[in-house]
Amino acid sequence: MKSCIDPGHGMSNRKLGIYDPGATHFENGFEYQEASIALRYGLALKDVLRAQQLDVFMTRDDETDHTPVGRRASMAKAAGCDVLISLHLNDFDDDTANGLEVLYGNPGSKALAQKLQDALVDVTKIRNRKIKMRTDLAVLKFEGTAVLVELGFIANDQDREKLLNAQIRDAVVHTIAKIVNPEFWFNHG
Ligand SMILES: [Zn+2]
Repeated sequence: MKSCIDPGHGMSNRKLGIYDPGATHFENGFEYQEASIALRYGLALKDVLRAQQLDVFMTRDDETDHTPVGRRASMAKAAGCDVLISLHLNDFDDDTANGLEVLYGNPGSKALAQKLQDALVDVTKIRNRKIKMRTDLAVLKFEGTAVLVELGFIANDQDREKLLNAQIRDAVVHTIAKIVNPEFWFNHG
């Protein structure tokens, strides 16, 4: 079993050679970028999965990896992945919009989406926006189990502060790893 971790956005995501920061939010002179927060979560998740002896493929490891959004699913397939987890933060014009949601692209991915949704809401106490099927998103066209986690809203102060908290990040990546790791379910029911 091999997992693909896809930190959303980044270099060449939408246009070759152009860095896509994803959703951004300015607060006290600092610009928060979805791409860098998602990358931090992705790298932390990679470390936890590798520590559990699980194979991991990263669509991108840093700010310079060229990863067009339309090629990520096929890259994961070519790397031999069974499951793809894309990590994002949500955005909306209204800064009061908040909550966590897990998107999935095919009926076979619904069970994983629901498990992640329940566990991540529990561990973050971020509002439950429920799982949603989305057949239009490129990464969710992955041939296999694929989910896209919208961890919270970058412009919402409560969501963002939680997601920037290292302890919450640690809890989130351990929770995802636990759910993805089949050994855990085998050993712990
Ligand atoms: Zn995004």
